[in-house]
Amino acid sequence: MAEQFRRVCWLSLFGLVAIQSALAESEVAATQEPAAVSLTVKRSGAWILVESPSFRCWSQLPESDARLLAESCETWRNRLRTTWISEPAPEAWVPKCEVLVHPDRTAYNQALRRPGDVSVGSTIMNFDQGRTVQRRIDVRADASDWSNAALPHELTHVVLGERFGGHALPRWADEGIAMLSESADKSQERLENLRSVLAQGPTLSMVDLTQMNRLPQPQFRDAFYSQSVGLTSFLVRKSTPAKFADFVADSVVEGMDNALLQHYSLNGVGTLQREWNEWVRQPAAMSFVSLPIQVGKASTVAVAP
Ligand SMILES: [Zn+2]
Repeated sequence: MAEQFRRVCWLSLFGLVAIQSALAESEVAATQEPAAVSLTVKRSGAWILVESPSFRCWSQLPESDARLLAESCETWRNRLRTTWISEPAPEAWVPKCEVLVHPDRTAYNQALRRPGDVSVGSTIMNFDQGRTVQRRIDVRADASDWSNAALPHELTHVVLGERFGGHALPRWADEGIAMLSESADKSQERLENLRSVLAQGPTLSMVDLTQMNRLPQPQFRDAFYSQSVGLTSFLVRKSTPAKFADFVADSVVEGMDNALLQHYSLNGVGTLQREWNEWVRQPAAMSFVSLPIQVGKASTVAVAP
């Protein structure tokens, strides 16, 4: 039976705060980069299609930026796999991952047939008996820092979706992992948002956060996203990203309490809540783990006209 999951991500809805970027030293060893990839370029009206071994990137960017986009996707794919799965990238994806960079919200909403949608990124995957039969990412080029925030965020959903073979990850972990792939600026924005949620509320308990299967009501959305990335970072710091992914997989099968005990020697969600409370007691001292995922050169990808 075919399964499908969709992730619609609200990435750029928070006002951009003044940022003093202080990216911590990478806490994970640098990954081995793939050799240069071969690209083919085609045009169709205003669109340019650049194909790499695992991606078909559609955009209305200048050719040099469109090429850079496809190269960056290949690099991200490799870094994400190495970071979260502890394996180098496998053979090229079949079918390739379609990446559609829409010039604005109108084009994005039309392509996804979601009028009124204010998200800036979306992932669609389809599975047939555990085999991936569709990978598709849509992003909006009018969103701030789309190429270093929305795009790696959505790509993380695809790589993690692959890791879990079509079984849904807990929502908090899926979003938390994806947010840790975003740019340093975006990460700082998330951190400021968590501080604001902690100061002004409403917040979610660890029980509510970790049991949530769908996006919460709008008044809890800031709490959901900022606490999800905060909790993911908090647990990743205790071991490694790949071990965190193993913990998430076990939490689905064995339950959260058992998985916390097995992977982190935490006596259930109650103990997690106490440790979390301790961590957030000094908001000014909080930081998120920094992972070697960002592709610096992608920052030069232009906003589509
Ligand atoms: Zn997401």
